[in-house]
Amino acid sequence: MQVKLIAYTQGVKGQMPLDIVERCASVCYNSTPTTTHKIAKGCAKSGHMSVYEHVSFTFMIEDVSRALLAQLTRHRHAAYSVQSQRYCDMSNCRFVIPDSIENLKYADPYFLACLDEIRDTYVQLTEDFNVPKEDARAILPNATPTTLAFTVNARALVAISGQRLCNRAQKEIRELFQSIKKEVAVVCPEIAALMLPKCEQHEVPFCEESNCCGKHKRLTELVK
Ligand SMILES: Cc1cc2nc3c(=O)[nH]c(=O)nc-3n(C[C@H](O)[C@H](O)[C@H](O)COP(=O)(O)OP(=O)(O)OC[C@H]3O[C@@H](n4cnc5c(N)ncnc54)[C@H](O)[C@@H]3O)c2cc1C
Repeated sequence: MQVKLIAYTQGVKGQMPLDIVERCASVCYNSTPTTTHKIAKGCAKSGHMSVYEHVSFTFMIEDVSRALLAQLTRHRHAAYSVQSQRYCDMSNCRFVIPDSIENLKYADPYFLACLDEIRDTYVQLTEDFNVPKEDARAILPNATPTTLAFTVNARALVAISGQRLCNRAQKEIRELFQSIKKEVAVVCPEIAALMLPKCEQHEVPFCEESNCCGKHKRLTELVK
């Protein structure tokens, strides 16, 4: 997987994302924006996250599985441009194999042989039988790689990270959000710091998942 931040909101005078959030949030209180981003940070602490919608980040994400794509695009407050399987040839694609399968000594060769067979059939359909790519793709598995551009505002990014940095999220998408967080940290460490699994987005950490990973107590255990 490759993840690259390719664009983010900046002010006309080169202000960074948190400067923009501070400027917009200061309107609410008729106050003067601070250089320490006191207002923006205060809003985040109180959960007044709408002010974080004024800044966005765009990422180029390569070599992730279509399984990941299906999960990511469930998040509706974001923009996606995805490599088309109708137009792009998948004959030479390198399938994305989950670590849990790659680490299997004996099952792995069987899995890889299945993928090779799938690829051969795809090539046969498109080249020998002239089946359009948009129909031949019916044989492609969830492991098929894809590339996408992903644009998201900071509020949505923090909320999505809450779900996808959770230990209950699948490893591939968890790693995607770890990489996204690293990219954001380069230009805006304060926003990156808000990107936490949802159990850690409260002042007192607690888990809401019915199938808790055990890192933090469930809310019911905390309040009893
Ligand atoms: C660990 C894990 C396991 C999952 N397992 C499954 C599964 O088995 N099956 C499955 O189908 N999905 C599954 N999902 C996906 C999950 O159900 C959500 O679809 C996905 O995480 C998107 O989150 P969201 O619904 O909060 O919406 P987002 O689109 O990210 O929206 C953010 C918030 O905006 C608000 N919102 C957005 N759209 C609306 C709307 N139309 N009406 C009202 N409010 C809205 C809601 O408050 C929402 O929480 C799983 C997700 C995770 C993290």
